[in-house]
Amino acid sequence: MATVAVPKIHKNFINGEWVEARAGRSLENRNPANREELIGIFPSSTQEDVNDAVEAAKAAFAKWRLLPAPRRAEILYRTAETLVKRKEDLARDMTREMGKPLSETRGDVQEAIDMTYYMAGEGRRLFGQTVPSELPNKFAMSVRDPLGVVGLITPWNFPMAIPSWKIMPALICGNTVVIKPAEDTPLSTYNLVQILTEAGLPVGVVNVIYGMGPDAGAPLVTHADVAAVSFTGSTETGRLVNQACASSFKPCHLEMGGKNIILVMDDANLDLAVEGAVWGGFGTSGQALKIGDGLDPETEIGPLVNETQLQTVMKYVEIGKNERARLIVGGHRAESDGLANGWFHEPTIFADVDPAMRIAQEEIFGPVVALLPFDSFDEALEIANRVKYGLSASIYTRNVNEAYRAMRDLETGIVYVNAPTIGAEIQLPFGGTKNTGNGHREAGTAAIDFYSEWKTLYIDYSDRLQRAQIDTSDHT
Ligand code: ADP
Repeated sequence: MATVAVPKIHKNFINGEWVEARAGRSLENRNPANREELIGIFPSSTQEDVNDAVEAAKAAFAKWRLLPAPRRAEILYRTAETLVKRKEDLARDMTREMGKPLSETRGDVQEAIDMTYYMAGEGRRLFGQTVPSELPNKFAMSVRDPLGVVGLITPWNFPMAIPSWKIMPALICGNTVVIKPAEDTPLSTYNLVQILTEAGLPVGVVNVIYGMGPDAGAPLVTHADVAAVSFTGSTETGRLVNQACASSFKPCHLEMGGKNIILVMDDANLDLAVEGAVWGGFGTSGQALKIGDGLDPETEIGPLVNETQLQTVMKYVEIGKNERARLIVGGHRAESDGLANGWFHEPTIFADVDPAMRIAQEEIFGPVVALLPFDSFDEALEIANRVKYGLSASIYTRNVNEAYRAMRDLETGIVYVNAPTIGAEIQLPFGGTKNTGNGHREAGTAAIDFYSEWKTLYIDYSDRLQRAQIDTSDHT
């Protein structure tokens, strides 16, 4: 008889200690490929827990901001090294809690490794500007100040990558952190923070609050001692976060829904385009896509993360049919061959989709692809730019003129040429336009811009009053 590990009972991480949620409630973390497998039990936190975590982060900020950034970076380097060593176990945990095949969860952990090394490198840069002053015997420069306590709220789709995109730049800039991970993927954040702690992160610098969005996320956003918020999730929740931050002018970075478009021109390498579209659309590669438990090396499509997500996908399949799009592949929940215990759905393709249809405009967040015919480059561009989201778009073409026009005219934050709509690298800005983002970017040095604030410094060593813009005559 097979044995299973006893599910671990987890706690919040506040001020360097693992503590129970004050209200004593908890949430189950189950495997979406087999919902009978209980992975762990996590606290369901409320305002009181958030208050404790923010207080700890605020106290820790007083020292952390003064630790030289290259010293902060040493902790990040050690973290990255441990992530490398434990990559396989971390990927397996992630597949168990959210379903992506192992090849993809390894990629997710790798992205966290890349980001951690990258931001560790920033510890010896964090560039500001030194510029000439217009007055003699005067020095002018700008430096980056940390913001204070930052509140981070993350989704389930990249359970370690996204927390790392937020935590690492926040830390290297000298901020302290309270993070509320998605209720479906708490284990990967636990693993990441555990490794940071082992690497020597001082007490209170990163605190973790588990729980549901309205109970544990909302109080973090509105807390008066949280200086800035970074949120990745749905556009609906992003709007709430934005509104909650507005009244106190709290900076917030929002990374929200998406609907990525691939333009396949008639001169494209069609095999390459199909391969890219399958990868971009279904998050996996291969010819005959095998659905199953992501821990099985043969699996190319894992389950949806939870029942709600499966129901959303099934709802959109019905919407597509009612809109009279032509269903050419899939369209059903996958329940055969031991899949009935998980939230699986067949990869699904609709053809003859009109740009006005909901399945062409709305985010589905599941293995459903819409094929839209077009006659000219201009028409394709119009279809692409009509979408109200703006994360990424791609064009497959061998026509250099159209490739450049697409790069210039597609209204998304990321444009790929002859590559699928996923595959961002961490050393460049990541983020979207329109209903996907609010102008900030993650990754690269763009992330540093969000997690720090400019301070401009003027040092006058002339020993007399010098007035900028007024004392314009020659003097030494
Ligand atoms: P998704 O569709 O990706 O699950 P959500 O926006 O529902 O997107 O969730 C993303 C993150 O936002 C999760 O950590 C969730 O718990 C959190 N969240 C949900 N509602 C709120 C809210 N009202 N305030 C703050 N955070 C929230």
